[in-house]
Amino acid sequence: MIIIMKPNASAKAIEQVSCLVKSKGLQVHLSAGDEVTIVGVVGDKSKLRGINIEMSEGVDKVVQVTESYKLVNKKFHPEDSRIPVKNIFIGPDTFTVMAGPCAIENRDQLLLCAEEVKKAGASILRGGAFKPRTSPYSFQGLEEEGLQYMEEAGRTTGLATICEVTSLKALSTAVKYVDMLQIGARNMQNFELLKEVGRSGLPVMLKRGLAATVDEWLNAAEYIISEGNPNIVLCERGIRTYETSTRNTLDLSAVPVIRQKSHLPIIVDPSHAAGVRAYVEPLSKAAAAAGADGLMIEVHPCPSCALSDGPQSLTFEQFRQLMAVLRPYAQLEGRQL
Ligand code: PEP
Ligand code: MN
Repeated sequence: MIIIMKPNASAKAIEQVSCLVKSKGLQVHLSAGDEVTIVGVVGDKSKLRGINIEMSEGVDKVVQVTESYKLVNKKFHPEDSRIPVKNIFIGPDTFTVMAGPCAIENRDQLLLCAEEVKKAGASILRGGAFKPRTSPYSFQGLEEEGLQYMEEAGRTTGLATICEVTSLKALSTAVKYVDMLQIGARNMQNFELLKEVGRSGLPVMLKRGLAATVDEWLNAAEYIISEGNPNIVLCERGIRTYETSTRNTLDLSAVPVIRQKSHLPIIVDPSHAAGVRAYVEPLSKAAAAAGADGLMIEVHPCPSCALSDGPQSLTFEQFRQLMAVLRPYAQLEGRQL
């Protein structure tokens, strides 16, 4: 439930309402907007039975939040969130591009990727050190060695870095080296991992599960935020459908749907959605036009030699071209790229 305060409610009135709610053993989350303050209430609301909060000083109205996700719900926090990652923000006004190889393969490959994507205008370097592969015989990632290269690439280029964590062990290693954690599609409902990234203190990008509904995805985000970590970015990366001409089906409607239901930023990963290099540019333009907060793009110095996801990876030249054509799209949406 949320308690919407009157536009002129005093700090004292807000404090009194918060204290009343807390005194009944419920949690309070304040969202102070330019116009109104919202007092979000989390917990068993039957504890407030018999108390008429609407009568308290400064209260405009009380609205029940029927969705099971609360803290990521737009009703709790009507203003769009801006998520800090190292020296940048992901959210309104900006269009953030994360780029890099699917997997970190060696030091030279990653450092070269970092330099090239930085020159082209990306602000976050991606690269997997723990790879969730369909076959156990495929390349599984360099693990801590890869993270050391990631840390070096971030330090020498100034780029922020993101790496997927696939287990609690991977998480405890990754927090020492990267600026942002990625939860992959296959782990979207790994609730123990979600709780632990919620306690990690690092910003998190949460990918949508292969067959997850938007509500399941937002509930997964709720696991992270309810552990005290509000710095979450959602990532639409395509869902399983009957269509076989692309690797997954990019659900671009998730962008406006999330925008309506949540205050969290949403970025789009056309590389894993399409699985085909040629489709990355048109889907990227469409994501920008749909109002996404950014993109995640796979780039490789030699896609045909890549140890994973070569067919969807762009060459450096293709990535430069993509960035050049994207700029006007981002600007049309009032965003800086
Ligand atoms: C990735 O980003 O490299 C990845 C494995 O993505 P997803 O979890 O979307 O499949
Ligand atoms: Mn990949």
